[in-house]
Amino acid sequence: MHSDVLIVGAGSAGSILAERLSVDERCKVTVLEVGPSADDPAVSAHLRDATRLPIGPGSAVARHYATSLTDHPQRTATVMRGAVVGGSGAINGGYFCRGRAADFDGWKLPGWRWDDVLPHFRAIETDLDRTGPLHGAHGPIRVRRTAQLSPGSATFVQRGLGLGYPWLDDLNGEPEGAGVGAIPLNIEDGIRLGPASVFLLPALSRPNLTVRSGAPVLRVLINGARAVGVDVLGPAGVHTLTADRIILSAGAIGSAQLLMVSGIGPADILEHAGITVHTGLPVGAAFCDHPEWVLPVDWPAAPGRPPVEAALYLDDLELRLYTTGFAEMIGAGPADRPHIGIALMRPQSRGRLSVLSADLADPPVIEHHYDGAQADVAALRHGAELAREIAGVAGREAHWSTTQHLSGTAPMGPVLDERCRVHGIDGLWVVDGSIMPVLPSRGPHATIAMIGHRVAEFIS
Ligand SMILES: Cc1cc2nc3c(=O)[nH]c(=O)nc-3n(C[C@H](O)[C@H](O)[C@H](O)COP(=O)(O)OP(=O)(O)OC[C@H]3O[C@@H](n4cnc5c(N)ncnc54)[C@H](O)[C@@H]3O)c2cc1C
Repeated sequence: MHSDVLIVGAGSAGSILAERLSVDERCKVTVLEVGPSADDPAVSAHLRDATRLPIGPGSAVARHYATSLTDHPQRTATVMRGAVVGGSGAINGGYFCRGRAADFDGWKLPGWRWDDVLPHFRAIETDLDRTGPLHGAHGPIRVRRTAQLSPGSATFVQRGLGLGYPWLDDLNGEPEGAGVGAIPLNIEDGIRLGPASVFLLPALSRPNLTVRSGAPVLRVLINGARAVGVDVLGPAGVHTLTADRIILSAGAIGSAQLLMVSGIGPADILEHAGITVHTGLPVGAAFCDHPEWVLPVDWPAAPGRPPVEAALYLDDLELRLYTTGFAEMIGAGPADRPHIGIALMRPQSRGRLSVLSADLADPPVIEHHYDGAQADVAALRHGAELAREIAGVAGREAHWSTTQHLSGTAPMGPVLDERCRVHGIDGLWVVDGSIMPVLPSRGPHATIAMIGHRVAEFIS
């Protein structure tokens, strides 16, 4: 089967890209997704309920990867990714806060300055609380802030205000400096409105758009200097699909792994894994993720609420109150204590992702090296002190964790050009969280959704 465009991965970016590109009815778009279909009754209820993250052990819609967060001492953890039509955006916390103007201007990439990306942020959303030139009024993703905060969130905000932090009225506006505010959420009436549910699924009736779930892509096929197709595993075994344009939207872990098993990556790592090198590029060499420490607090848990409702900003730190304990949030146990997450939003540390073999079923090696920069550790320590003061829990220890924002494994610049084409290979793009040269100083989901919309304009 031949397509004009073949997209690997129906996640946050891939869902929007597929919908945008298939607007042109002459363009035959095929999407291949390893996970189940989102309208499978066995999974849809889990995806809709925004008060829960369906990522616990045995989840049918999430994949788990081992990582080492720190080296001195080594601390291990689990990284999750959505593996379902909708990807990580179908299982996440619903925090939908844009990167800030300085984040994009700092990329220094043509076509990605704030003025270039703002129209795409506006186009994807309808902000139900705020209007004006910064906000969208007609986009499919409905964005809303919690008006009646849970008791724990309300206490968190009051304590922040009591310490002299100003109220930030609009975290998707242009807030300057420190303060506390309500987080924009892509949640309405407790229902998660991820990119698949509002972009991709409503477009499925288009005759030129095909989405195949349960379809793992095993490698990209390259002929000379051109990507020509992919090998995909189907019920009858491995078969090849060809396309004029191939787009990897398999997420920062999946797209990097696919590039490497297809011979595109650091030559030494590929050779060590027994993979013939096609193009030497620094895939996975310096990924970025927001490190997080978590501090349990004694406020009442609020099950049935969005996982996060409010945050406090100071320098490069974001403190957010998780409204209930993790076990309850992932449906793995009874309500336990909420906690404050202390996240560093412009870390210096960089991680590494590599493969050990050409078999995609072999998990990649992920090393965060979160403690690789002393300045990062000092900033987190400072944030933990502030969190203890806010929560009134002097002396309590905070633990290393991760925000699950792993990104930048195939960044524009070293691996891609500024239109997201893989250097040295025609007909191959990467469009997802992999492409960001530096993470924005906010959670990445709104930015990755914007990326899907932005790059559709480049590719169409
Ligand atoms: C538990 C959790 C909570 C989070 N909460 C938030 C939050 O509240 N706010 C925020 O800003 N960010 C949050 N994030 C991060 C954010 O959701 C992700 O960064 C973002 O959704 C990633 O989008 P993506 O398009 O890059 O990849 P994904 O959405 O992960 O999509 C990749 C898709 O590709 C598919 N795929 C992978 N490999 C293959 C293959 N070989 N063949 C076929 N298909 C394949 C996957 O199954 C998946 O569907 C969270 C992440 C997690 C895991």
